[in-house]
Amino acid sequence: MNILVSSCLLGLNCRYCGNGCLSQAVQKLSSRHTIILVCPEQMGGLPTPRPPVELVNGRAVNKDGADCTGQFQKGAEEVLKLAKMFHCQYAILKCKSPSCGFGQIYDGTFSGKLTEGSGITAGLLHKNGITVFNENNADRLPE
Ligand code: SF4
Repeated sequence: MNILVSSCLLGLNCRYCGNGCLSQAVQKLSSRHTIILVCPEQMGGLPTPRPPVELVNGRAVNKDGADCTGQFQKGAEEVLKLAKMFHCQYAILKCKSPSCGFGQIYDGTFSGKLTEGSGITAGLLHKNGITVFNENNADRLPE
């Protein structure tokens, strides 16, 4: 099965801080499935490292106050393009991220607090019928 996976979860150093966050659980799945790695923030044209971003009233705003919504949307559309190209029904995306988080994200205050909601890419994939998991519930992915 073809599955979209956040690049940082397989250890690519694409996070805002310049690091990755390898997940052993996700890494295990790569032996059984074909993984399509995506980093929507890089694919939308943002550099690495970059200032952290949170969603504020639906806009992607970085810690310096710059609006990155355009890059976030472009990245999300590029990921959706790949999802369609490779007929992906499932995605495993990094939790809490303003791009990749699904169901729960940082609340826009840059204080580490969480709120209900989804990142821009996770939301777009969900709207297009793709089931989104994260590194903590990836074991629920159907065989
Ligand atoms: Fe990871 Fe997604 Fe952030 Fe890229 S945009 S670093 S894939 S959480």
